[in-house]
Amino acid sequence: MKREYHLTIDGQPVPGASTFDVINPATGEAFAQCPKADEAQLELAVAAARRAFAAWAATPIEERGKKIAAIADAIEARISEFASLLTEEQGKPLDQATGEMKGTINVLRAFSEMRHEPKTILDGGGKQAVEYRKPLGVVAAIVPWNFPVILLANKFAPALVAGNTIIIKPAPTTPLTALLFAEVCRDILPAGVVNLICDENDLGALLSSHPEVDKVSFTGSTETGRKVMASAAAGLKRITLELGGNDASIVLDDVDPIETAQQVFNGAMRNAGQICVAIKRVYVPEAIYDEFCTELARLAEEAIVDDGARQGTQIGPIQNRQQFEKVSALLDETRGHARIIAGGKALDRPGYFIPPTIVRDIADDALLVREEQFGPVLPVLKYTDIDDLVDRANATPYGLGGTIWSKDVARATQIAQRLSTGTVWINQLMAIDPRIPFRGAKQSGIGVEGGQAGFEEYTQAQIINTALPA
Ligand code: NAD
Repeated sequence: MKREYHLTIDGQPVPGASTFDVINPATGEAFAQCPKADEAQLELAVAAARRAFAAWAATPIEERGKKIAAIADAIEARISEFASLLTEEQGKPLDQATGEMKGTINVLRAFSEMRHEPKTILDGGGKQAVEYRKPLGVVAAIVPWNFPVILLANKFAPALVAGNTIIIKPAPTTPLTALLFAEVCRDILPAGVVNLICDENDLGALLSSHPEVDKVSFTGSTETGRKVMASAAAGLKRITLELGGNDASIVLDDVDPIETAQQVFNGAMRNAGQICVAIKRVYVPEAIYDEFCTELARLAEEAIVDDGARQGTQIGPIQNRQQFEKVSALLDETRGHARIIAGGKALDRPGYFIPPTIVRDIADDALLVREEQFGPVLPVLKYTDIDDLVDRANATPYGLGGTIWSKDVARATQIAQRLSTGTVWINQLMAIDPRIPFRGAKQSGIGVEGGQAGFEEYTQAQIINTALPA
């Protein structure tokens, strides 16, 4: 029998006003029904979060932290159920789905221990100024489809530990693991502290402009991020926007080309390239360009592309039809003016499969280089001069991450400092950690997730400035 899913509103499992199909991207077929909220249910969710706020904010932070840690334990006890559902709805290979769930548990535990102590800013001469932090109120968490659980946890955990209540809205193509997450929370949190509604891309705008929502924490495309920012303007809501990226990977001339090609391949192809901080273009010195391209092509030809539920799969399908069509169109556009040396065409089978694709001899102004492809297609670019390379790497409206590969860490660090991005990883891939702040520069975002700074994004600072009695 098919499993039934419910929205979570005011601590209760609630059927949707209607339902819609959830598609397994490895088959292209519906395998579950998702409850869909209507506007009235959105209003109920916001009202429940508002009602629950005062008592939750007054609960000692240690208690709130313990509840979040209990949610981590409850998810851990059901990790294989979560991971296989994640593979079924999202497409990623089961080992990567398990990795996302372990990461989720880690995020929940890390934030469960975060605290904000009063900070003395000034103390002397009969004056004392102290900064305190208070929760903001009701948070709307809007999540995309590439990492549906860990990106939700990145918002949920700091928001709740800081004393806010929340309304979660997952992406319409990956709602099920989020529904399961909220189901777990229902048994642990007081009614109204967490609410979850699902939509078909029709409630996000209402939620982010809702007058009773105090903060919007959004992860998704830069295009939608602009809309969220505009709709939050009327109420001057607090916003955190984690948006798109076009991360450059820079290979310096002192590395082993074969080893580094393997790393770059992994960084471009993990989750079928659907990662905000995936390697989206790689710059290779002219002297090793041919060897590097050949090795990338070899890795692409050897990669096992299949249903993520099948053991041994390295690359699963693209998550949804719309993205599959976008990446396919980008490949068609690329074919005429660059050399595709591996992959290049959707697989002739059901589901949304695009094999790992390596593109060489491509110009800087090609669409595949300028735009975020968000798929398993990697353009390989040649360089001879470092100053010119830095300009080329920075010639994008995005500024999320980047990677540099070199045996000379001091030289790599100097180049890293010249990149206009929020993060640069040296000799490692996507080392995102809940203890380390993560932010986008330029049009890759506003605000921070992770670390103490990310925690404080869910608080309002208040200065109490006192003239002490003589
Ligand atoms: P998207 O912008 O299409 O959708 C994201 C979420 O916004 C979904 O839940 C969607 O229903 C909702 N939404 C749609 N219209 C809305 C509106 N008008 N107002 C409010 N919400 C609305 O993004 P996507 O295609 O699901 O995700 C892929 C994008 O996310 C890529 O660009 C990727 O780089 C980015 N991303 C960024 C990060 C980061 O941390 N910077 C992490 C993961 C993904």
